[in-house]
Amino acid sequence: MPTIADNIGNIRSELADSVTLVAVSKYHTIGAIREAYDTGQRVFGESRVQELREKAEALPADIAWHFIGHLQPNKVKYIAPFIAMIHAVDTPKLLAEIDKQGAKCGRRIPCLLQLHVAAEETKFGFSIEECHEFLKSETWKAFKHAQIVGIMCMATNTDDENRIRADFHKANTFFKDAKTSFFASDEDFKVCSWGMSDDYPIAIEEGSTHIRIGSKIFSHS
Ligand SMILES: *Cc1c(COP(=O)(O)O)cnc(C)c1O
Repeated sequence: MPTIADNIGNIRSELADSVTLVAVSKYHTIGAIREAYDTGQRVFGESRVQELREKAEALPADIAWHFIGHLQPNKVKYIAPFIAMIHAVDTPKLLAEIDKQGAKCGRRIPCLLQLHVAAEETKFGFSIEECHEFLKSETWKAFKHAQIVGIMCMATNTDDENRIRADFHKANTFFKDAKTSFFASDEDFKVCSWGMSDDYPIAIEEGSTHIRIGSKIFSHS
């Protein structure tokens, strides 16, 4: 059976240097994360605040922890002191809270706006229209401690590759439009977070810079 190191090696060997591999370690043990760490992996993604805090405390300080799941505003304070990126900002209220908590610990926290492009009703995120309106409002420009650095999305949960590609394409088109309209002079606005174990090759073809891979690394099959 392939080890975690084998899995990471296989994925990395096919990635261009411009793509960041976020190893999604949610539900996996500290030992498993350590195994990935020992291959040189330094960027890990978690989706639960309590679990993340425990792992961050137990593991080396040079890990860049990314929060990839749905985040409740009242929990931002627990991760603000150390989180390297928050991927799924889905309301103006959450961004405002990240700014407030970032200020308290003297940090500028990189954030991605989550776009809802999938067919499912249940997934979180801004619609294309809502996200455009929010950026147009320019309220976010007042935030000195929550920095919008890109866009995140999840594709429809389906085997239909055309649908998956269309979802990522929509996000990529939005990213490019937003870059031109609102971030033309902002070098930091450059992150496109899409693609998971089953769809990351398509995601990269559709402009992804950050792929979030869990099961393909940590579940050995
Ligand atoms: C769990 C999760 C992933 C990783 O999914 P896999 O299919 O295991 O690669 C990526 N992104 C988010 C937001 C997740 O919750």
